[in-house]
Amino acid sequence: MSFELSKYGWNVYDPVYDEYIDFIIHKHVCKDCGKNWNLTPKLVCKKCGKDFSKIQKSKIIAKKMCLDCKYEMIGNKTKCVKCGSKNLINQPSCDKCGGEIEMINHFCECGSKNYTTKFRTIQVKSSRIEYKNGKSKNTYAVDMKPRDLIKDKYHFYIWCLIDNNDKPHFLVMSVNNFKKIMGDSIKGISFFKDQDRQHFSARDFGKWKKFLNKFGKLE
Ligand SMILES: [Zn+2]
Ligand SMILES: [Zn+2]
Ligand SMILES: [Zn+2]
Repeated sequence: MSFELSKYGWNVYDPVYDEYIDFIIHKHVCKDCGKNWNLTPKLVCKKCGKDFSKIQKSKIIAKKMCLDCKYEMIGNKTKCVKCGSKNLINQPSCDKCGGEIEMINHFCECGSKNYTTKFRTIQVKSSRIEYKNGKSKNTYAVDMKPRDLIKDKYHFYIWCLIDNNDKPHFLVMSVNNFKKIMGDSIKGISFFKDQDRQHFSARDFGKWKKFLNKFGKLE
């Protein structure tokens, strides 16, 4: 499930102890268009635009320039080899064109320089196909309890349903989505007594079907 969430750009964190929240997820997105945002600055050549951020760092040339005679030299010099001045500045340079490399903050493809941070809390319930007397019932079962009804618009349930081929299916819903589908049975005795169990078809997920892979709800 963490892997699935990461596909949607979420970072997944595990709470240190159990308080009905199984994961905290977090991401940065563009404030204007919602695309995922990268908070780490980029290292790019000012002249040719070559990006050194990820794998190319060792290729950055350590160049120094003398502020007095403008002479440029390669390597970790402390004194100008031409005029002897100690007035040197670092100039990390491009191995391709010799241009200066600078650190630039990320901005979105849409042109926006504003991002926003999102946090969500997730409760996970999982189920495998139910069997009775060795025979598949073709159903899943999820236990829901009053204490799961955390009243927060940033709290979500993800039901992770594993079929007989070990393939996971995900139902993603908010607390309000759950309450709405439950209707009056949320006020029923069995729910109050922690004895409620949602059984539903493993073929079409029954009345929970509309939450299948609805990871967009987390946004
Ligand atoms: Zn954008
Ligand atoms: Zn360059
Ligand atoms: Zn010099």
